[in-house]
Amino acid sequence: MYHHVKQLMYTVRVGTPDTRFGNMLLEQFGGANGELAAAMQYSIQGLNCEDPERKDLLMDIGTEELSHLEVVGTLARMHLKAARSSRHAAEADPLIAVAGGGGVALHNSQGNPWTADYLKVTGELDVDLRSNIAAEARAKIVYERLINFTDDPDTIDALQFLMSREITHMKAFTAALESMGKPQFSIGAIPPTPGLVDQYFNDSTGTGDRGEPDVRGPWNQGGDWELVNAPAFQQLESEFAGTRSSNGGSDGGTKERNGGRKPSRSR
Ligand code: MN
Ligand code: MN
Repeated sequence: MYHHVKQLMYTVRVGTPDTRFGNMLLEQFGGANGELAAAMQYSIQGLNCEDPERKDLLMDIGTEELSHLEVVGTLARMHLKAARSSRHAAEADPLIAVAGGGGVALHNSQGNPWTADYLKVTGELDVDLRSNIAAEARAKIVYERLINFTDDPDTIDALQFLMSREITHMKAFTAALESMGKPQFSIGAIPPTPGLVDQYFNDSTGTGDRGEPDVRGPWNQGGDWELVNAPAFQQLESEFAGTRSSNGGSDGGTKERNGGRKPSRSR
C-alpha cells in the first residue's frame, strides 16, 4: 500500500523563477527518462517479480522515484507559476500556461503526453535489471544537462540531489544483477549458436567521408572473436562469379559465408 507523507524528500527552493527552464524540467516529470517512467517501470517490475529479495529492491526504488516525481514536479511548478498570469512567461510554454494554468502536467517539454510505452518490463528479472541500469544512466545525464542550463543555485541544489540518487540506484541495480550469479552473456534459457555468436561482421567497409577507417578493438578482436569481412559483398561476389559458396567453417574472415541461404548455382 502507499502512504503519502506531507513532506518533500528534498526541500525545494527557487531563487529566480525561469519559465523556460521550468519547461525543460518537464523532461524529468513526464518525459521518456523522467521520474514517473522510473517509478512505474520499477514498481510494475516489482509487482511481477517472484524473487522476494529483489522484489523488495524494486519496490523500494520504485517508491523513491515517486518521491522524486514530487520533488521535480514541485520545482517545475515553482518555475512555471508565472506562466499563469504573465503573457511573456506564458510564451515559454503555452500548453502549461493556457491549458494547465501554470501547473505541471504529465507530458514532456514538447507537450507529448507521458506514455506507458516508455517502460521496459520484460518479466525476466536479469533483463529488467539491465534496463534499469541503463534507465538510471539516462536519468543521470538528463539531470546533468539540466544543471548546465540553469544558474539558479537553489535549483542546482535540488537537481544535484536527484542526480546523485540516480547513481545510487544504478549501483544498487548493478549489485543486484551481479548477485544473481549469472554469466554476463547468459540471457534466458536457450544458448546462442556456437561459432556464430563469436563472429563480428564488418558490415561497413572502406573509408568514409570523414576518413573513418575500419577499426579493430576489443569488440571485434582477441578472445573468441572472429572477424568476418563484408559478408554482404561476399554474397554478391560469389553470386557474380557464379561460384558455389560454402556454409559453415570458421577459419577467419576470408572464407565465404552466406548465412544459410541456398548456395548460388555453379556454372
Ligand atoms: Mn529519480
Ligand atoms: Mn533512479
